Parts: sequence; structure tokens; C-alpha cells
Amino acid sequence: MDDEYSVNLRAVSCQAAPCAGCRLQWGDACGVFGIYAPGEDVSRITYFALYALQHRGQESAGIAAWHPLEGMQQHKGMGLAFQVFSEDNLRELQGDVAIGHVRYSTTGNSGIENAQPMFGEARFGPFALGHNGNLVNTHTLREELGSQGGEVPGTSDTAVMAELISRSGADTLEEAIIEMMDVIQGAYSLVFLAPDKVIAVRDPHGVRPLCIGRLNADNWVVASETCALHVIGADFVREVEPGEMVTIDADGLAPTQVIEPTRKACCIFEFIYFARPDSHIYGRSVYMSRQRMGHLLAQQAPVEADLVIPVPESGIPHSMGYAQVSRIPYGEGFIKNRYIHRTFIAPDQRLRELGVKMKLTPLKEAVSGKRLVVVDDSIVRGTTTGPEIQLLRDAGAREIHLRINCPPIKYGCFYGVDTSAGRQELIAARLSVEQIRDHLGADTLEYLNMKNLIAAVGLPKNNFCTACFDNQYPIPIPKELKAAKSGSPPLEDSKEARTEQVPGS
Ligand code: AMP
Repeated sequence: MDDEYSVNLRAVSCQAAPCAGCRLQWGDACGVFGIYAPGEDVSRITYFALYALQHRGQESAGIAAWHPLEGMQQHKGMGLAFQVFSEDNLRELQGDVAIGHVRYSTTGNSGIENAQPMFGEARFGPFALGHNGNLVNTHTLREELGSQGGEVPGTSDTAVMAELISRSGADTLEEAIIEMMDVIQGAYSLVFLAPDKVIAVRDPHGVRPLCIGRLNADNWVVASETCALHVIGADFVREVEPGEMVTIDADGLAPTQVIEPTRKACCIFEFIYFARPDSHIYGRSVYMSRQRMGHLLAQQAPVEADLVIPVPESGIPHSMGYAQVSRIPYGEGFIKNRYIHRTFIAPDQRLRELGVKMKLTPLKEAVSGKRLVVVDDSIVRGTTTGPEIQLLRDAGAREIHLRINCPPIKYGCFYGVDTSAGRQELIAARLSVEQIRDHLGADTLEYLNMKNLIAAVGLPKNNFCTACFDNQYPIPIPKELKAAKSGSPPLEDSKEARTEQVPGS
């Protein structure tokens, strides 16, 4: 456990217990934040930022801070940021520099041993690390480390990175990170805390977002998403470039291009679902991109109907877009219980349906007798969409036309989205669109096509990873990892997952 380190670490507290069902959900893999701001209440600012990044992970939250006299301190635990942190423990986490993390597990168990930040002690001193993404060569690295002797604590890819840095013979953290970037493969947006500095690093494809903000003249922050900047009063400066390492200390901001990027591959699902709508990625508004997805879906898949309704909350901007172009009135058809964060509840179908009912209640008065266009961002396993449609039918909806703002998700993600239960869990990997429509009980079902999805985001396709839709993996996936997740072959496409060949850009 982390408190074995000799630096001034406090005991880890575990509050809300993790639910086994959570691990079967698709989940976004983490939010990270870092701040260099001597004289400011860095832990409290980090806490506010984690609040803004909470949508990126709800399993655990943690903050590590560096104080010139107290050294490195941390507090982390299972649950949401507000469950993990109290006035008291924030007050105790004094310092000039801090990093924070909210986690959703992609590799490794969801237990406290994998909660982040993770700590290490190297020859140049103590450090802490927070990671968003997923390495694809964790297994090999873990074996290599094991063969050199000694245990690698924890079960996650982040633990492996912390171990690589801890065992490095380098003289500085920066040198150790550069060495590590030479051997790790996959998606990583990282924040490091070291005495008197924060270091931010992004993988050479820039799969997960990471941006830099300015708090005031001398003080800087880094965050997974721009939405975290607004809440703490920081101004957006720029994104951390793919393959770049940025050190922030008393001398300001020092960028180093460690690996020349051959091709950017930001996860397009950030635009569809993951990122908060008020964030910007590649300088593009996530909210406006989602509205444009709705505009283009209305052109691509029109239908005669009385009312356009969103599946709240992620489907709201898309459905507004659909209504604007179709000129069908927009309204609410579901009321969402804001105090339920996930529909995990339990792995069995009956209780999962109960979970949907607890989260969404149909507005009978609004939907009864109506021909509805029901707009959502995506269908992953199809386990919540079916019961949602049934709720609308029970409330008297006359017709239900389901419109989904991305192509069918047929392939597993190896870069930070949890489909660990296997590819056979993805409904579009098993069924055709017509079979999905029938299974969900909709009158019609249309998915936004890839061309329109790309047009909605407004940048060339080769800026994005679209592997979950088209099997084009920008970072090679080791065979055994692919095999572990592949499950049964899909009906329509039984090709082996292939690595995209992209010329340097
Ligand atoms: P399902 O019908 O079970 O595939 O669930 C579809 C719903 O899951 C949609 O409303 C999406 O907004 C939502 N969703 C998409 N991606 C994720 C994710 N990574 N984690 C949790 N929910 C998601």
C-alpha cells in the first residue's frame, strides 16, 4: 500500500465500497488535474477541479500535495470527490503544488490499492502520479519488471508506470519519464507531482485530452478537460501536445517534445459522450459538435413525428440539434432523478431494469399518444435503452423512432474505455441494426454515419481514434490482449482487429 513509502503519507481512507457491477459498465477512464501555485490553497482548488471532472470517473478520488516542510502528503478513497474529502482533510493537505485524480478502472481492480495518485520513491526523490488512459503493453512490462526481481504493487497499468519510474537510474524525474515513454505503449495523459513541480505528459497520439491553464501571473494548472479551468478561474492556454512533456515550477512552464507525433488520434467518443459539453477539445466546442451531430442526423434520418425527446442528460445537445433541423417540437419525455449517478445496481437483468426506472421516469402527459423521436448519444450494450423504450410505451407513446448520434459500436476499446467484460457485450458486435431495433422494441432505429460524425466535429478523420466503430486501431494491440477481449465474432464483420496504417502527417 502507499503508506509504506517513507514520505509523509497519511493513511488511505476507504469510504463508499465499490460495486462489483460497476466493473461491467462502460466507463470513462479517469480525470487528472495538477496545480503549481505557491501561496494558494492548492488542495481546495484541486478538489474543485475534481468536482468538475467527476464525470470522468466515480470509483475513487485522490489528491497529493507537496509542502516544503511537510513533504508529500495524500488523501484518497473510494467514491465521489465529495464522499472522499472533508473540510478537515483538505485543510491538512497543505502545499504549494498538488495533483488530483478521479478514477474509473480500465486495467486493474477497482479497489483502494489502485486508487490514485500513486506514489513512488526514486533515487531523485518521492513522486506521485495520476493517469488517464490505458497502456496496451502492461502485461509485458509487468513481466519484465518481475523478472528483474521484486513485486509490482497493485494490478493497474499506473502501478507499472510508478514502478518503472521508481526503479529508474535517472538523475531527475524528467529523465525517468523520458526513459519510460520509450517503453510504454498505449494511451496516457499523466500528471506527476514532485518536490516543487508538476509535470504533465501526453502520449504521442494524444488519445485522451489534457490542457494547460493559467491561474494568474506565476501559477499554472493542467487538467483533463477545459471545463475544470472555468470553475477555478483559470484561463485556457493550450493543449498539451501529443508526445509532449511540460514541467511547471518556479521558472514557469518548460515544454519538451519527447516523441514526435506521427498521427493524432484523440478518442472521438470524447466528443460523443465522455467529455463534459462545456469543454473544448482541439479548440472545438463539445456542445456545439453534439448539436451538429443532431443536425446531421436529422438530415440523414428524417422521420414524421410529433415530439423530439432526449435521453437525459447526455442526449440533450444532440436532440436539440435534431429538433432544430427537423423542425419537430422539442420537449422533455423523461424526468431524470439527479441523485442517481449510474444504473449499475446489480448484474441481473430484472434489477438492472429497476435501476433504469429509478433513474428515469416517463412524463406520461408529454408522451402519451405521440409519435416520438427519441435521441441518445450512443448504444453500448443495449441494456438500458430497451427498458427506456418500454417505459415510453407503457406511458402511451404511439410510435418510437430511436436516433443514435454515432455509428454502431462494434469493437472493444484498449485505450481507456472499459469493455473488459468482452466484446460480446457490445450489442452491435452481435446483432445487425435491424436486429437491434427489434431487440430494443423501437419502430425505427438509425445511427449517425461516420461521414456525418466527422463532419459534425469538423476536423479530418485522421485526427481521431475511431476504432470502436471501424476496427482501425491507431496503436498496435498485442495479440493476447486482443484475444482476451474479443469474445464471440460479430454477425456482420468477422475480420480480425487490424492496426491502421497511417502515413505520417
Ligand atoms: P445501453 O443501452 O446499455 O447501451 O446504454 C446506452 C446509454 O449508455 C446511453 O444513454 C449512453 O449515454 C450511455 N453511455 C455511453 N457510454 C457510456 C459509458 N462509457 N459509461 C456509462 N454510460 C455510457
